[in-house]
Amino acid sequence: MSETQQVVIASHNRSKSREIEQLLRAGLADLPVEIRLLADYPNAPEPPEENADSYAGNAVIKARACAAFTHAISFADDAGLEIDALNGQPGMYSRRFAGEETPFSVKMGILLEMLKDVPLERRTARFRCAVAIAVPNGEIYTFEDTLEGRIADAPRGQAGFGYDPIFYVPTLGCTLAELPSEFKNRISHRAKVMRQAVPKLRELLSQTVAPQSGDRVDS
Ligand code: IMP
Repeated sequence: MSETQQVVIASHNRSKSREIEQLLRAGLADLPVEIRLLADYPNAPEPPEENADSYAGNAVIKARACAAFTHAISFADDAGLEIDALNGQPGMYSRRFAGEETPFSVKMGILLEMLKDVPLERRTARFRCAVAIAVPNGEIYTFEDTLEGRIADAPRGQAGFGYDPIFYVPTLGCTLAELPSEFKNRISHRAKVMRQAVPKLRELLSQTVAPQSGDRVDS
């Protein structure tokens, strides 16, 4: 008999969690898996301090803390925007850049001002995303990928979140915020890293969970 397992997304950022949830649902659709958000647990602990010196390190901190609390396979990501003309800033400080509570419209305005004399061809940038899978038995797996682009001269588009309105994707001719979420979810840094991580997650789940379509229930 198959048994439903849980995968918990260790993020308190709802926009990001929704993207991860959609990607996980697509990748695990044939397995009897319940996908939950850590933020939905009634006594969810405060997010741990992200004090590692790499995206993967911070993802591991979040995934480990989540697995310790939920005793379920836990999934965390850590991402940032690296702007070459600013020596990789805001990078790992993307969320905290110009103050954690500062609206993204203001953060983007500050970055655009810092780049005002930089021509388009030198406004190269990338989103970098690492994910960590933590298994309650202590195993950890990490993956990393990027999406290359340029910083636009002004914010454009209403979709997505964070820095999406100023992240221009030359191959598509628009910013990430001008793309429908289903489309962003196919091409983003997060989508790319998930394509690496989902097979490992499937392998871990399949050690105890059989595909639904092939289930045989013996009484
Ligand atoms: P976190 O620490 O992984 O939650 O992400 C750090 C910050 O990077 C977020 O608060 C956003 O500012 C930015 N970021 C990460 N991914 C994206 C994205 O897909 N679009 C826009 N901004 C993003």
